[in-house]
Amino acid sequence: MTLLKRGVRSVLFSELLSGLMLTLVYFFRPKVTLNYPFEKGPLSPRFRGEHALRRYRNGEERCIACKLCEAICPAQAITVEADPNVAGNCRATRYDLDMTKCIYCGFCQEACPVDAIVEGPNFEFTTETRAELMYNKEKLLANGDRWEAEIAANIERDAPYR
Ligand code: SF4
Ligand code: SF4
Repeated sequence: MTLLKRGVRSVLFSELLSGLMLTLVYFFRPKVTLNYPFEKGPLSPRFRGEHALRRYRNGEERCIACKLCEAICPAQAITVEADPNVAGNCRATRYDLDMTKCIYCGFCQEACPVDAIVEGPNFEFTTETRAELMYNKEKLLANGDRWEAEIAANIERDAPYR
């Protein structure tokens, strides 16, 4: 660009005016930003968020302590225990999940034969301490109770693709 052209553009404020024009154009276009946390974007039914342990409708725990989720977890974040002294015991006496190790791969929910452990739609579970991310069975069941409606709807929507 010649010196003359640059001088003319500076005198006429053409760059400033074109910038303001662009602002004006975008001012009237639909907004792409969201006023988070009051507004939230859509989530895929396959979104892998915070873990939850589900129950059947009658309140019975789904988990049968088969340990498939523990075996498949690449991060070794899951610990499942059942009491071997109880005949026919198929309930987990312990279900711990270290959320600081989890890489949200979804293998645990894929391996579970009864859709007990799932990754729900909740992504807002930040904590102030590391200890709060060591989930136990009670915490995971509470998550399941809280998010069951959304989780069940997502599983149903995703069923044809499984
Ligand atoms: S999502 Fe992956 S890393 Fe996290 S607990 Fe499940 S299997 Fe382990
Ligand atoms: S959550 Fe599912 S895969 Fe894991 S121990 Fe329970 S039944 Fe087995």
